[in-house]
Amino acid sequence: MHVKPVEMNMHGVLYLCATPIGNLEDVTLRVLRILKEVDLVAAEDTRHTRKLLNHFSIATPLTSYHEHNKTRKTPELLALLGERRKIALVSDAGMPGISDPGLELVQGAIEAGIQVVPLPGPSAALTALVVSGLPTDRFTFEGFLPREKRRRQEALQRLAGETRTMIFYEAPHRVLAALAALQSIFGERRLAVARELTKQYEEVFRGTAGEALAHFSQASPRGEFCLVVAGGEDQDSRQGRVPGRREEWEQLTVGEHVAHLVAKGIARKEAVKEVAKLRGLPKNQVYQAAIKGGV
Ligand code: SAM
Repeated sequence: MHVKPVEMNMHGVLYLCATPIGNLEDVTLRVLRILKEVDLVAAEDTRHTRKLLNHFSIATPLTSYHEHNKTRKTPELLALLGERRKIALVSDAGMPGISDPGLELVQGAIEAGIQVVPLPGPSAALTALVVSGLPTDRFTFEGFLPREKRRRQEALQRLAGETRTMIFYEAPHRVLAALAALQSIFGERRLAVARELTKQYEEVFRGTAGEALAHFSQASPRGEFCLVVAGGEDQDSRQGRVPGRREEWEQLTVGEHVAHLVAKGIARKEAVKEVAKLRGLPKNQVYQAAIKGGV
């Protein structure tokens, strides 16, 4: 591979450069400067990245680094870094290493004592999360679901008790199957389907899995998709024990409070017990109030 002459470099550095997930205006000034300054750009798809570099009149040499050649290319790139070359790693879109190649090179560089510098920028996962309208305080990134139906169901089953917002990547031809699987495991949980983020046909559909299925079944889904799914309520919040949720039941009558828990799937006997405990009332009094309220 062709690289710039070495004389200017004091140390080898691996730069991890985020690139746009659609809109080229989302590239950062720092990423552009580094792409210009490095000796070599290691790209998932050189033709794709060549277009980005051409757009910004950057002539840095490119080499490919992808899933199928990473075993061979990782030591080659590490050798160049060891010779004090500066290399920028980019993927086709977003953050390298996030459902994209990068991890092996980063691990190799760390092991070899080579400096690794991250250049933040776009990533579809966080972009989808913040526009979803779902809680952003705690979330989990799940990447792509397994392609095979049974394994996909199993993967979602393992997330059945997850209380954090969940972010998934999905290919357009599997979006409907993924939504159907989400519906079967999570029921009518709130979710957002973020399509073609930052691009001309950007669309964010917010609703339930069933509603999203109806919407995206109208025509075969096109473009790039992220699915963001609300976490489930944990045991404590279901039972009204989370401080932030207390006002919710404090506004209810005793009968309504029991009905509220029953509507959430808790057996009446358990709901009476729980309400009695939470309100410091005798169980019998709560039971009578529940009967009076028609629970
Ligand atoms: N490294 C990338 C990142 O940081 O976002 C992700 C690469 S992964 C191979 C590609 C997946 O990201 C797509 O299949 C899609 O799920 C999601 N994605 C990428 N660009 C997107 C966009 N503009 N809108 C919605 N989802 C997108």
